[in-house]
Amino acid sequence: MKEFNALISSFSLFVLAILISSNALCEQKEKQDTEGQIVCVENAEDGNIKVDHQVEDCKGVLMLMGNDGKTYTMIGSKEDLRKSKSTEKENFKIDGQIKGHQRAWIIDSTKSDEVEPPESETRDIVGDIFCLLPYYKTSKIKKSTLKPILASYPCHELEPHSHVLKTKDGEVYSVVGSEEKITNIEKNPKDNVLLKGKVRANENGLLLYVF
Ligand SMILES: [Zn+2]
Repeated sequence: MKEFNALISSFSLFVLAILISSNALCEQKEKQDTEGQIVCVENAEDGNIKVDHQVEDCKGVLMLMGNDGKTYTMIGSKEDLRKSKSTEKENFKIDGQIKGHQRAWIIDSTKSDEVEPPESETRDIVGDIFCLLPYYKTSKIKKSTLKPILASYPCHELEPHSHVLKTKDGEVYSVVGSEEKITNIEKNPKDNVLLKGKVRANENGLLLYVF
């Protein structure tokens, strides 16, 4: 019986060791998650852009405003989105790869290694560019949000931020690409601008990779 007890207790220690090590692995994985609030950046009837927290029926692009103080254009599926909603209301935990830079962060939950969009034709997209100035959740601001401003003046000296382009038909594209290209756009802003690039459509919106 003693031997049996000793066997049981060493077995328990073994199980405990496995549990501790697998827990450590899980914790490591969780660090890749990016937590924050999601906003929908879409066309407003009055020719402007509106930003709100309704995610399900977003007709524009979804952006994650991370608790890390970065704004990410989201690539992924609506299904992943539903799964990533945490118990704390309006907080999401997105498991995705981070790509881009301070002027155009992307979080890609498709686990794809692609930096550029899949092979597609180069397109010319004409529209107005809007700066998205971030206001992150603090003790005073209850929900993180973005303030859209028509880019009618150079904005490269402002705190780095994201941009969208809106066509006259009301299509909204998140403008992404190299930091050099985005800075170029920021230095020469005007409405009715023509941007050359590749388009990537996904369930969370349209991305325009400028070059
Ligand atoms: Zn700007």
